[in-house]
Amino acid sequence: MSSLTKGSYPLALDTALEKERLIQVIKDWSIAHGLAVRPPPAVASNDPEGILAINAPVTLFPSPFPKSCFEEAKAIQTTYNELYARISQDEEFLGEIVQEVAAGDEFIANLWNIHVRVKKEGYLQDLALGLFRSDYMVHQNSDVLQIKQVEFNTIASSFGGLSSQTSLLHKHLAQTEYPLLKEAIPPSTLDLPDNQSTKGLAVGLKAAFDAYGKSAIGHQTCVIFLVQGGERNVFDQRHLEYELQASQTPVFRLPFSDILARTSIADSPQRELLYRLPSNPSHVFEVAVVYLRAGYGPGDYPDTSAWEGRFQIERSRAITCPSVLTQLAGMKKVQQVLTDVATSSPPGSPQPPLARFIADEAKIAALKRTFTAIFPLDTSPAGLEARELAKDPQGCLLYVMKPQREGGGNNFYRSAIPAHLKTIPEEHWGSFILMELIMPPPLSNTILRAGKLEQGGVICELGVYGTCLWDQKRREILHNEESGYLLRTKGDQSEEGGVAAGFGCMDSVALV
Ligand code: ADP
Ligand code: MG
Repeated sequence: MSSLTKGSYPLALDTALEKERLIQVIKDWSIAHGLAVRPPPAVASNDPEGILAINAPVTLFPSPFPKSCFEEAKAIQTTYNELYARISQDEEFLGEIVQEVAAGDEFIANLWNIHVRVKKEGYLQDLALGLFRSDYMVHQNSDVLQIKQVEFNTIASSFGGLSSQTSLLHKHLAQTEYPLLKEAIPPSTLDLPDNQSTKGLAVGLKAAFDAYGKSAIGHQTCVIFLVQGGERNVFDQRHLEYELQASQTPVFRLPFSDILARTSIADSPQRELLYRLPSNPSHVFEVAVVYLRAGYGPGDYPDTSAWEGRFQIERSRAITCPSVLTQLAGMKKVQQVLTDVATSSPPGSPQPPLARFIADEAKIAALKRTFTAIFPLDTSPAGLEARELAKDPQGCLLYVMKPQREGGGNNFYRSAIPAHLKTIPEEHWGSFILMELIMPPPLSNTILRAGKLEQGGVICELGVYGTCLWDQKRREILHNEESGYLLRTKGDQSEEGGVAAGFGCMDSVALV
């Protein structure tokens, strides 16, 4: 415990010289290895040609992380993959949940509509791919440390590309720089596990690409990365793209807004998705896999043509990562239903939700260990109880209220909850969930962001990647792997943790 709270190495740099040297090494190493992002909007507005890149915000030292928690999070990933593959296959379950939130959430209602339209016509692709990330914080309850799940991401799970680089950066510093500090850290005192997140995610994409098979209409097959225009986190995506290309897989980046302009459905009963190179429109590829790094929030759908673009992808024969149903499986409301806080259900009532998807009792117990209480805010008994908590200026202090959104900046924390509830019509409260705050043990570290050091208390969030390929119709899982990890760290005064959103930074674990 004590080694976790203090860290087993000095976190303060005593002299200006030490700081300068370390900062310079980190900046250079980061740019040399693509541990980089596009600059923030204030700088980017003076960079119309897009020539600038800066080192991604990063901790100077790997953060101490309990080994048992790290191993537990990695070990459970394939069970989580299986769980979310099964949920994606359960249209009835997802439909009921969508019903509960759709009145207050037009975005979710529109996503569901895409599924309904494609279903009417008939899906032509039974395979589905998930590149997942399950996020956790370490919860400290007296002396016991336990990972607790923050959320499960089923779409655009980012930072796999930068994360393996961050592990390499900290390993490099441990070999070359930390031993030279005034309070030297010998390399042998740091347990820095390998992190194969880039490779792991590329393996998932390749499994889907191979499973798609050869084109029946004579084209070369490819993978499309669907991306946002002006993406700051572009190098993260590039790492993955280059890893995939290294296995002889053609990959192209396509802005979400250009789907209808640059893809079409083949004039064939199989509805193959065709992609024309902008540089050479007579060169046509058949799209085997569409990997979405966009389309997770309303901002990507400014008009009906954006929704028609998503519809085109979904109705095509391409394997989607994720499908609309898999994206919907990532709703916070699904997580809330799984945690099943209303366990006071009378005997003989319907089976608890986890048992609907996972048969093995030991796996269910392992999943439950990672759960934190999450309440509905609907008119069920548990929901009414939660509404009282959420409205109460004291009661709300231990909670975060979340809508059905991804990408950061959408939640309401602690004392902000009652005021926000007042702005929403009561009949729409059911589209939010109320989650107990996880309380991680206090840690300190130093963050290098935009050339400046920020030193102080930090909170770490571990993400474990998983790749899963399954047959939606036969309900068969064809590939299921744990695929590396992400550690994101933020100042302990910040509620949000997004790196690209400017709240968090990249980190890696030093196991203790
Ligand atoms: P998003 O889909 O926007 O990433 P998250 O559920 O991951 O939403 O919440 C965003 C951030 O808020 C997390 O990265 C974490 O820092 C913080 N957070 C969310 N839920 C909790 C919780 N239960 N306890 C403590 N912090 C939380
Ligand atoms: Mg998150």
